[in-house]
Amino acid sequence: MRILIVEDEKKVASFIKRGLEDENYQVTVSNDGVDGFRRANSGEYDLLILDYMLPKKDGLTVLQELREAGNQIPVLMLTAKAETADVVSALDAGADDFMVKPFVFNELQARVRALTRRSKQDRGAEIRFADLRLDPVNHKVWRGQVEIVLTAKEYSLLAYLVRNAGKTLSRANIADNCWEYPFETFTNIIDVYINYLRKKVDGDFPNKLIQTVRGKGYILKNG
Ligand code: CA
Repeated sequence: MRILIVEDEKKVASFIKRGLEDENYQVTVSNDGVDGFRRANSGEYDLLILDYMLPKKDGLTVLQELREAGNQIPVLMLTAKAETADVVSALDAGADDFMVKPFVFNELQARVRALTRRSKQDRGAEIRFADLRLDPVNHKVWRGQVEIVLTAKEYSLLAYLVRNAGKTLSRANIADNCWEYPFETFTNIIDVYINYLRKKVDGDFPNKLIQTVRGKGYILKNG
């Protein structure tokens, strides 16, 4: 499992690098956005840990350019300040998760584990629900004949909904299974992601599969 860290604060970068190397990840550090983009887009890494404020090119631009290039590498965004605006724009640009600095290593570890877990899990057969089809090996999704392009996080959320189709899932259930850590600050992140999924999965289709259960959570239901 190869991880790229793009972070100009040397102390933070080496703290993350050492911790992840102890967990047997192969880690490369890049110190600016231009070099970081080039490496991240090389296809050589399984996960990108991307700082928001970077010299030469900021993290948000790096992320936007990667997604525009069709690169779906899982991205964990780091942000120095707890500004919701930064977090939301990072998520809008296709970040899979985010962390606010300073953080303890255990928190980072949980997020890295969640984002890299898919390669271990992805050996099953296709998953289907209604006219939805999920390919767990390549993380591709179709509705009927239409391919739906999802980020890694959106995919894991949809896969969880499909595996539990017909059951009402609370935000806590979803957080436990798709994020592996509890939310305290940004509990609305689940709603944000459900909205992304709705736009992509249900957007143009008359039959809406992702439904809200008022006061309880969400359910994947056919009709
Ligand atoms: Ca920085």
